[in-house]
Amino acid sequence: MNMSGAVAGPTVQIIAIGDELLEGRTSDTNSRRIQQALGAHAVQVSLIQVVPDREEAIVRALDRTGAGDLVFVTGGLGSTPDDLTRDVVARWAGVDLAEDPEVKQLLQERWKKRGIRTSPGSVRQSQVPRGMTPLPNPVGSAPGLAGGLCGRTLVMLPGVPQELQGLLPAAVKWLDENGHLPRPRRTLLWRTAQASELALVRTCSDIKLKFPRLEWSWWLTDWGVDIRLAAPAGSAGADDLAAAEPEIESALGRLIYSRRSETLPQVVQRRMLDRKATLAVAESCTAGMIGATMTDQPGSSGFFRGGILAYADQVKTGQLGVPEDLLRDKGAVSQETVLYMAAGCRQRIGTDYAVAVTGISGPEGGTEDKPVGTTWIGIATPESVFARKYRFPADRERNRLLTVAAAVDSMRRVLELGDGDPPWQAADSWCRPS
Ligand code: AMP
Ligand code: MG
Repeated sequence: MNMSGAVAGPTVQIIAIGDELLEGRTSDTNSRRIQQALGAHAVQVSLIQVVPDREEAIVRALDRTGAGDLVFVTGGLGSTPDDLTRDVVARWAGVDLAEDPEVKQLLQERWKKRGIRTSPGSVRQSQVPRGMTPLPNPVGSAPGLAGGLCGRTLVMLPGVPQELQGLLPAAVKWLDENGHLPRPRRTLLWRTAQASELALVRTCSDIKLKFPRLEWSWWLTDWGVDIRLAAPAGSAGADDLAAAEPEIESALGRLIYSRRSETLPQVVQRRMLDRKATLAVAESCTAGMIGATMTDQPGSSGFFRGGILAYADQVKTGQLGVPEDLLRDKGAVSQETVLYMAAGCRQRIGTDYAVAVTGISGPEGGTEDKPVGTTWIGIATPESVFARKYRFPADRERNRLLTVAAAVDSMRRVLELGDGDPPWQAADSWCRPS
């Protein structure tokens, strides 16, 4: 038992093998997949080693693991001469490789179906280090291998990401059934938008002090910040989790857009379809990015009607009805302009709602009054038109992405709060009062 009442799990290590991973040709996404597959269990990866396809490098990595460790090895299980993993692991552990008749038969059937005569490589792929269990590969040919070697529990998986992903459920099941994983841990997830990580940490600081046994994680997403709380099932930590849940809910309030793994645009789409409402967009600085985001999901035609890409002033006046003198007096990036853009878009396209954005993404165009990152977001509803100023702190690319996230989330809030309520509050740390 550790401080949090968790059943201590094994130390987990990952060894990712492949020259391409060290030459900038391929990113090691497999390690990430392995970590995600273990996410439900109270284990944490303590070391990831990325090594080339060379025996001494692989042996050195294996030597760095310790007795009792759970070791994942990915890559080098194929049939080409650079695939050394199977042989090197067997030599390192001092065990023989033996042909597994079932694996051989599966491989031969696979080749036959594809009209290929059994290749010498397939014979290599049916070799299993003594003491290991082959795990059938639902996607490709090389089986995964799991078992105890040298006091470690080893799981070897192919490098091809689709094959690794296809095999991971079977690997985790094997580990679970053979008692190598602690009980699944309970976790709670909150997906938030329109508040910085720092603002969220501050908002939750009292709750964090009150429940010291819980494990907190925070990470940035495309839409804001996700928060995960974890406690192993059945321990005192699990009671803390239940007690902390309503406190976090009330502290975060409308910053939360989902408790599941769905994305922010998915939430907006679901809510739009539920109420059979329609949406249009008027985009200046994002020039179509919000429309593209809103139509990422299949089924978006059920609510999304279209938009006006009002990058230049003439389009704001001509297509959206922003009065020319107002645009001249107040500027394209102003509360007045965005209100007209939203209202004009809603009226001209004939939708229930419209989202409008106008901002200075940078790097040029900023002034003392309106520095780079100054952005107005407007929302027109059947009852009202709202506008809010944001000051995004980043470069052009990121400022545009932050604008998309804030605009989509502002729409989400209107759908949750009601057509007559402004969708913003003081805790929205991206906003600046106008
Ligand atoms: P291998 O099983 O070593 O023959 O790997 C086959 C292919 O899978 C490589 O050419 C890479 O494109 C890819 N791959 C191997 N290891 C990884 C990894 N750790 N992450 C992502 N892709 C990988
Ligand atoms: Mg390789």
